Amino acid sequence: MSDLPRPPVCDYEGSDYQTRFWKKGGREYEDRCEAIALKRLLPKHGKLLLELGAGAGRNTRRYSGFDHVILLDYSRSQLKQAQELLGASNRYTYVAADIYRLPFVDGLFDAATMIRVLHHMADAPAALRQVRNVLHPGASFILEFANKRNIKSIFRYMLRLQTWSPFAPESVEFTTLNFDFHPRSVLAWLTNLGFHVERTLTVSHFRIDLLKRIIPPRLLAGIDSIFQWTGMVAQYSPSVFLHAKVAGETTLPQEQNDLSAYFKCPECGNTPLVITDQRILCSKCRRTWNISGGIYDFRGDDQ
Ligand SMILES: [Zn+2]
Repeated sequence: MSDLPRPPVCDYEGSDYQTRFWKKGGREYEDRCEAIALKRLLPKHGKLLLELGAGAGRNTRRYSGFDHVILLDYSRSQLKQAQELLGASNRYTYVAADIYRLPFVDGLFDAATMIRVLHHMADAPAALRQVRNVLHPGASFILEFANKRNIKSIFRYMLRLQTWSPFAPESVEFTTLNFDFHPRSVLAWLTNLGFHVERTLTVSHFRIDLLKRIIPPRLLAGIDSIFQWTGMVAQYSPSVFLHAKVAGETTLPQEQNDLSAYFKCPECGNTPLVITDQRILCSKCRRTWNISGGIYDFRGDDQ
């Protein structure tokens, strides 16, 4: 396990992202479009869902068909904001961890979501492999990624305002730790990992300041919702959502009520871990992690 990659992590610790980007940034249109796409793609019911890069919990209440949601983020401060937003509930478990080293046993989850997160992954296939490992056969994965082959980048490329080709398969890092991907590359990664993509929607077609200023967000999102279906044929929007299923007959994991059975050591792979009031311990490699403020913190900063 120790040979797992350690690509750089985009850390939102202490960030005012939730307020600055979503509340004050005029993103109501994008938020509404995402809600529509999620509703179309998410399974209606399920037991255990993993929300990867949950941030401040903007989407979490949209997963109400699931009995239990594990919110995972690298940033403790984002998870604290999520706790404040969602209130005290044993439906939610908060985990601070690196997506490249997920601390969960294989095949645990019925579903996982990853919205606006792959965007920050320097090694996207490695992150997707981790997600695949914690899903059981037949489980659902809802993935959003930023699409480099969008209309705006095609025009910019044609007008020579941009050097990189939107049609080339490699990802583009347009600013530090912000990546856009080619839809065919994402599809190839998922297929290689044993996912089958069932449905693809294109989202946020009208992410243009002028349109967003003159057309009310609800109406613009309504028009977007019609265009989302074109994603089944071709993807030229800045954001793409897809529903992928893990290939194979659905095999549900044994039902567990004890959280310690959910976790595995992110360093040596040992399971189960020992959980006390304030610590998590791996009895094999003797690493320990903190539990504080209701957050299971596997980042290992204190090692
Ligand atoms: Zn260990």
